[in-house]
Amino acid sequence: MNETVEKSTYRVLARKYRPSTFSELVGQDVMVRTLTNAIEIDRLPHAFILIGVRGIGKTSTARIIARALNCVSTDGTGRATAEPCGVCSHCVAIAEDRHVDVIEMDAASRTGVNDIRELIDGVRYRPLEARYKIYIIDEVHMLSTSAFNALLKTLEEPPEHVKFIFATTETRKVPVTVLSRCQRFDLRRVETGVLMDHFRSIAQKEDVTVSEDSLAMIARAADGSVRDGLSLLDQAVAHAGIQEDGQITEASVQDMLGLADHGRIYDLFEHLLAGKAREAIDELAALYNSGADPLAVIGDLLQIVHWLTRLNLDPGAADSPGNSEIDRTRGINLAQRLNIGTLGRIWQVLLKGNEEVRTAPSGIQAAEMVLIRLTLMSELPPPADLIRMLQTQGPSVGSGNSSEPQRTALGSAPTGQSSGALPAAPRLAASGGIQALAHPEMEKITAEDYNPDSFEAVVALFENKREGLIAAALRGQVNLVSFERGHICFRAGSEAPQDLANRVARLLKEWTGDQWLVSLSERPGQPTIRSVRETAARERRNEAIAHPLVQAALEAFPGARVETVSERSLPEEDFKNAITNPDEDEKEIEP
Ligand SMILES: [Zn+2]
Repeated sequence: MNETVEKSTYRVLARKYRPSTFSELVGQDVMVRTLTNAIEIDRLPHAFILIGVRGIGKTSTARIIARALNCVSTDGTGRATAEPCGVCSHCVAIAEDRHVDVIEMDAASRTGVNDIRELIDGVRYRPLEARYKIYIIDEVHMLSTSAFNALLKTLEEPPEHVKFIFATTETRKVPVTVLSRCQRFDLRRVETGVLMDHFRSIAQKEDVTVSEDSLAMIARAADGSVRDGLSLLDQAVAHAGIQEDGQITEASVQDMLGLADHGRIYDLFEHLLAGKAREAIDELAALYNSGADPLAVIGDLLQIVHWLTRLNLDPGAADSPGNSEIDRTRGINLAQRLNIGTLGRIWQVLLKGNEEVRTAPSGIQAAEMVLIRLTLMSELPPPADLIRMLQTQGPSVGSGNSSEPQRTALGSAPTGQSSGALPAAPRLAASGGIQALAHPEMEKITAEDYNPDSFEAVVALFENKREGLIAAALRGQVNLVSFERGHICFRAGSEAPQDLANRVARLLKEWTGDQWLVSLSERPGQPTIRSVRETAARERRNEAIAHPLVQAALEAFPGARVETVSERSLPEEDFKNAITNPDEDEKEIEP
């Protein structure tokens, strides 16, 4: 029931304020200027192509062009005009979608060559009533190749009385032969400030009170689209039940958009900076209980980090329209306390966390883990500083002898962290510990390899395709006897799934399109991938522990242990990896 209400309200605003003239098109000044020029100097292309993202006004623009081309003005004698009158029979019929000479077709639903043939058959007949016969083809990139070819013939020699207006979201899927015969018009994402102005004026006309922060939220969520924004405004009206007091509040818009209270996201962010894991988890739980989606919370944190980074580079950005009061005040305050490097590291952790929260069986648990990881970051000096300190001062930094003031990794935290002393050792161990330096990049088989040419690549493909059980079996339970593309032979351990070989063969065929023979052997074969990795990790760890810098670090943090060693060449990267990647093959080694 509610849905029907919202739908019908949606039609009201988006239809009611649908632009019918070029001047009413919001935020498309450049395109409008080009178009009106072309019409005024009577240099009309045979085919227009309107390009832009979904909901940006392509169809509205196409209809305005159709009006402009066919308007005869109030006295019925006018010629094509950049300012269609809106009252002549043609203008009215086009607006009402019932003009005999304006033919609209949605290529998304009619992609075939016969649909286009039918349409093109009509091209040779003169328009019945209007100056031009106008074909509007929406989502033109969806046409089949043969349909494009049929269309192309007409585009090469179009009759004088015919105009084509194409609209598309994906230019790259439109053949160049077609593109080259059209004049191209790009519709831009409408800037947040322009959207806000537009929505404000509509709200005034509708006699609805909307706070500036609510407008900003709606404009941001609209992401450049007038239509999406109007639909949100409609929903906000319905959602807030404004019939009584005529008010749309931030809380109701937040609620509607599934956003967490922005102020509380900032609170959460400050807890993270201060290294207050418990407070951060409590805040997350409170947000979760009040209906916020864990993924949206991580998304909001990412947005804050992005915002702070922008502010850090350009404090003037705070004054651009569309920013909420909170973003301005708390943002500036925070941006002054954090540096770009720190923000970059937080971004990395959040970005990886975002993926984890999205795929984990429990989003809220995964989000908690991400937050804990971030609070741990605050306890370590930035990696570059740590290395510098160790290089210049030796291990004594940890014992408080250092005269150089030290800061925590996430900048000077607002509360909590007493300045100066470096963190206690057990936390260091918990966060993955000190990383080895300067190792060459080893084999890292990555995801997109759908044409695996080694056994490792096959395993990586299974990991990538989220066939975790099979991947684990291949890593730990399988001794490879021989590998060539299309044929794998291995010995399967007693704990490997019975049908492992069949499943591997079947899935490989599905993903690669080729036939794969996967056979079992009783020959001993090579050591498992897991044991090879473990041996390598052990060697790396021993090597790392012997490194003078690591030795110094271990002295600097009494009780610290080397837990994981990963393969990165830069210390900065090492640190990030330690935080984001508490690795699978951990074995603790006491110094
Ligand atoms: Zn007219």
